[in-house]
This record gives sequence, structure tokens and C-alpha cells, in this order.
Amino acid sequence: MKTKIIDCTKTIDDEALQQCGKQLRQGEIGIFPTETVYGIGANALDEKAATHIFEAKGRANDNPLIVHVADFDILEQLVEPPSEMEQKLIDAFFPGPFTLILKRKETVPNVVTAGLDTVGIRMPENEIARKLITYANCPICAPSANISSRPSGTKLEDIQEEFDGKVAFMIDGGMTTIGVESTVCKVIDGIPTILRPGKITPQDIEEVVGICKLDSHLFQSATGKVESPGMKYKHYAPNAEALMVYSDVEDTMIQLIKENLRPNTAIIGFQEHQKYFPNQKFYVHGHIHQLEEIMHNIFTLLRQVDREKPDFIIIEGVKKEGLGIAIMNRLIRSVSYRYIEK
Ligand code: AMP
Ligand code: MG
Repeated sequence: MKTKIIDCTKTIDDEALQQCGKQLRQGEIGIFPTETVYGIGANALDEKAATHIFEAKGRANDNPLIVHVADFDILEQLVEPPSEMEQKLIDAFFPGPFTLILKRKETVPNVVTAGLDTVGIRMPENEIARKLITYANCPICAPSANISSRPSGTKLEDIQEEFDGKVAFMIDGGMTTIGVESTVCKVIDGIPTILRPGKITPQDIEEVVGICKLDSHLFQSATGKVESPGMKYKHYAPNAEALMVYSDVEDTMIQLIKENLRPNTAIIGFQEHQKYFPNQKFYVHGHIHQLEEIMHNIFTLLRQVDREKPDFIIIEGVKKEGLGIAIMNRLIRSVSYRYIEK
């Protein structure tokens, strides 16, 4: 298949987006930007098209896809009426980096939900994504556009090779603004529970409905039955072996890096710490306390470091608080749970 590249980095090419929308509706798959990460999308009501996404990514078929919509009216076709609390969450966080797990209707094919009786719904805010879904005139199921287990894509250049020839189109919208995937939330026994942390934090949810809890697997490996099948899988991993270190005390964190250095180590860490490692390859993920900046940079940095082929990677972690919860959830998986905290 010849993959068409659509450049929307400077201006949105409406005519090309209309064409892409039509291709999605007709059963093709394609890559597009959202405010979180790039997605690989298909018509969510077309079982065969959705299957192609699993094949292109090498994704386990028990790991369901999130269904993306551009307007509220379509919800009643896809899901049972939301509870009062679910409706409050929809009103507060749609459109945005937020996925709500709801009871699905039969219209959503089994492949999309991996046989679950629920479906994750998100309404992205990114203008290209919204237009594409509107032009497709159908809901779009879309996981992150990366080969399974690899870091998610926040720039088209990072993922282009992985999918060249496997998708009908790729829309370049520049670097995504947020940088990690949506917050996935499910109301369980009346309590909004975060199954995957993201830009919408537990505090944001508490402000709307007064309560929120974190699933117990966010910082641990999970096996067997879990609320969200994605928790079981290897994720965001660079090619080289990697270790994460964290301490509230900066000197301790620098010491932890020094103690664990090996030949040909790449460090991913804070701007303020670069000066302590003049002889190491050092990649800055952001400034101390600038969590938005770190969130924005982390996936593209993991891919950049990979291209330099180090033998070992040490990553500086952040406090598991606010946006730090989402950052640490991704980093802990990217180092395959090799983590020292002092
Ligand atoms: P991705 O779109 O690849 O970034 O992954 C979507 C995430 O949402 C995965 O971790 C899925 O397991 C999770 N997910 C999607 N649908 C559901 C659902 N119905 N119930 C629980 N988790 C879900
Ligand atoms: Mg993913």
C-alpha cells in the first residue's frame, strides 16, 4: 500500500482531510494527530477495519481500542445512558485528554472492545482530529500510533517508518501538545477510578465530582484480571536496558545516577543536572518542577535516545503527584519496573 502523507503543520488542508475521512469511512486505516499522542484510526463500526489496526500495531486482541467521537449526539448510538456522575465527567472533560469507560451498546463490534461489555469513549480537542472524525461521519476507534510495546508517537517523524506502507494516510500535525495518552477513567461502585493517568489529574476529577481514586496497578506490573487490559502489557520501552532513579533530595538523585553509570550510558534528566555529567550523553527531559514540559518531551526523547544506540539508559523520575502520576506511570513501564527510589 502506498501511504499518503498529508502536511497540516502550517495550515489545515481541508480537502485532503475530507478525502482521509472518506477513506476511514470506507474501511481504510490512517494516522492522525490528537492533543495527546498520534493515533492510528479506523471506522469503529467496521469490524474488519478495526482488525487491521491490531495487525498493523501487533496489538494483543484482548486489549480494547478507545472510540473517538466529535460530537455528543453520537454517544447514544454507542453507549447506554450515562449515570449522573458519568454525565458530570463528560460535561467537564469532553472534549479533551480524557477517556470515559461506559456500558456499550451492541453497535460497537466485539473486536473494538475486546469482548468487554464496556467501551472507552473520548472526544479529542485537536482541530485536525475533530475535523477528520467529522468528515468520516462515523466514530473512529484509535489506539496510540506505535508498534505495541514501543513508546507512543508525539511527532510523525518518530513513527513514520513503523507504519509506512501499512496505512492509507498519515496526517502530520506537528508535535502533539500534551505528549502522553489520555486519562482513562471508569466509575466503579460510584467512584471515578483512574485506570491510566494523564493530563486530567485525580485533583481535576475531585473538583468536579468530589471523589476520585487511582487503580492499584498504576505503578506495578499486573497479571491476570485487571480493570484495563492495557495494564498487563509491556509498554513504552526503549531498545536498551533502562533504569529509573528518583529521590526528593536532588543530591541523592545525582548520587544514584553516578552509582549506576556503566560504559555507554545515556542519561535522560533535568536541565539543572546536566552540568554534573559533562562526560555522558545527557538528554534533557525538562526543568525541575516543570512537569508539563517533561510530559511533552518524554516519548520523543525515548525514541531519540534509542537512535543513538546506548548500552544503558538512566532516567530521572519525578514526584508521583499531579501530572507526575502520569509521567511516572509511563516511565516505570518504559524501564520495565527497574526503579530505585531513595
Ligand atoms: P491506547 O489507545 O493504545 O493508548 O490504549 C488504550 C487504553 O485504554 C488501553 O490501556 C486499554 O486497555 C484501555 N481501555 C480501552 N477500552 C477499555 C475498556 N472498555 N475498559 C478498560 N480499559 C479500556
Ligand atoms: Mg498505546
